[in-house]
Amino acid sequence: MRLLQRHLCMIAMSLVAVSSAHAATLVEPTLHIKPAASGAGRVALTFDACDGRTDTRILSALVENKIPATIFVTGIWLRRNAAAVEIMRAHPDLFELENHGGRHIPAVDTPQKIYGIKSAGSPDAVLAEVESGAAALARTGEPTPKWFRGATAEYSPSAIAMIRKLGFKIAGFSINGDGGSLLGAKETAKRIAAAKDGDVIISHINQPTHAAGEGVVQGLLALKAKGMIFVRLDDADGTGNHGTTD
Ligand SMILES: [Zn+2]
Repeated sequence: MRLLQRHLCMIAMSLVAVSSAHAATLVEPTLHIKPAASGAGRVALTFDACDGRTDTRILSALVENKIPATIFVTGIWLRRNAAAVEIMRAHPDLFELENHGGRHIPAVDTPQKIYGIKSAGSPDAVLAEVESGAAALARTGEPTPKWFRGATAEYSPSAIAMIRKLGFKIAGFSINGDGGSLLGAKETAKRIAAAKDGDVIISHINQPTHAAGEGVVQGLLALKAKGMIFVRLDDADGTGNHGTTD
């Protein structure tokens, strides 16, 4: 019996060893900007445009209220949302477009699934995702992106090192505003309105049918009413962990 137990234990241990050799432990980096230290403070709004369409509730609110934001766009989204890209490009004082990858594939260089999405799975595939995202942005005539945020915002540490070598800073966040666009309007508004000096908020601008988008607008108008200053990542001194910005 004892022998059998020992045998089973060894099998279990070797299974753990095998799976850890294949699936990397992922990190979800944070990002903060330098606090304003006076007044109501300043925050950076970042929006992911993964695929799908454009949430014009958010886009219009940003334009009408002259609120600057950083938009992480994929190659897929750029191809399908020419009208929204046109609006963003017409307001270069408001919108900074950055790299969310070519095909919205997680920047993880080992084969695994993150929130049900298949990772890039190899170093070459991570490089292809990052470089094709930058190339898609270059084709729109936008300035060369300086920031990258991978699909799912999770990374293997070795992928982070590769992306940094390509010259990109990696954009984490400090407030998950809309829970991947799946939260209700009330909860989303509450999370965003609670932002403090130095926070970086992530939300989505590609889900026009989700209730979260309504909450995003309410939350950012609440911040504006408090006198919060909005900055883009290019205009702020962003500090992330896990070697994402230094
Ligand atoms: Zn995304």
